[in-house]
Amino acid sequence: MRIIFIGPPGAGKGTQAARLVSHFDIPHVSTGDMFRAAVKAGTDMGKLADEYMRAGNLVPDDVTVGIVRDRLNEDDAKAGVLLDGFPRTVPQAEALEAMLNAEGMAIDAVVLLEVPDDLIVDRIVGRRSDPETGAIYHLQFNPPPAEIMDRLVHRKDDTEEAVRSRLAAYHAQTAPIIPFYEEKALVKRVDGVGTPDEVTERIIKALS
Ligand code: ADP
Ligand code: ADP
Repeated sequence: MRIIFIGPPGAGKGTQAARLVSHFDIPHVSTGDMFRAAVKAGTDMGKLADEYMRAGNLVPDDVTVGIVRDRLNEDDAKAGVLLDGFPRTVPQAEALEAMLNAEGMAIDAVVLLEVPDDLIVDRIVGRRSDPETGAIYHLQFNPPPAEIMDRLVHRKDDTEEAVRSRLAAYHAQTAPIIPFYEEKALVKRVDGVGTPDEVTERIIKALS
């Protein structure tokens, strides 16, 4: 199974991806997580990505396609994968298509997680993640246990200002990939408003 998750920042892609990868037993490939790991490791690529991410802009396509190509060449990604946050531009979608075609592989479904813009800012500003487990919380909608509060991370790009740039980037650069996949009849639109359990059920139903 090869699945792509598309949706605005804060739609719940990471939350749902964590649930779906255990359901389907496929690796979770998140370009955002890979860039954050590179920033933390202080690599040259991490330094470059950091500037774009802080401003809420997309990292250039050549860099992004390069890290995905390397990741998809690893053994565990051969049988299936859940791509979270990639592709995010039409050139990335085209590059992915060429990469998969060359291996005789194809995408099975594109899950479009729909959440209206006016709910996004609250979801993003209240997001916290646990660096030890990778779990994603929300101060109000999915409150973390009190004992781990001190170690939680608030992403530098989870400010109201950066989220506005990220939403603009989503509408201008990412939304145009929807018709690209609609032409291939791969898009499953899923309502991302509701409890995380409700959304998981909807995604599994859409994929079955
Ligand atoms: P969110 O979970 O809010 O949708 P991500 O963690 O997926 O955000 O991505 C965080 C940032 O990493 C993006 O704002 C962008 O700067 C960079 N990034 C992630 N994926 C891509 C991509 N496919 N192309 C370009 N930049 C990306
Ligand atoms: P994305 O990966 O699309 O940026 P996340 O999964 O990180 O989104 O979710 C963004 C924030 O919204 C997190 O704080 C998360 O706990 C919260 N969240 C996720 N799903 C829901 C939901 N169904 N209802 C309310 N809040 C949610």
